[in-house]
Amino acid sequence: MAGGWSRDGAVNEQIDASIQDELLRLKARRGPVGESLTHCAECDEPIPERRRAAIPGVKLCVDCQQERDGRPVARGGVNRRGSKDSQLK
Ligand SMILES: [Zn+2]
Repeated sequence: MAGGWSRDGAVNEQIDASIQDELLRLKARRGPVGESLTHCAECDEPIPERRRAAIPGVKLCVDCQQERDGRPVARGGVNRRGSKDSQLK
């Protein structure tokens, strides 16, 4: 029985981690933080005030940022137990 693996905890950690991850990545990429743009550098969409406040020096809207990171849009309820169970047998 090697299962230190709670699904609720894992999901929460994943969400936290992806936010932290994005912030760290942005910080790492540009040392000194520049000014936030009011409009996305890629698609010219207005960047929401809250996003600009949360991410100093933000240059991209959410969509473009996610595309650039190559990360699919976060979804809550993906259930991968199927493949796990088949490995156990
Ligand atoms: Zn954009």
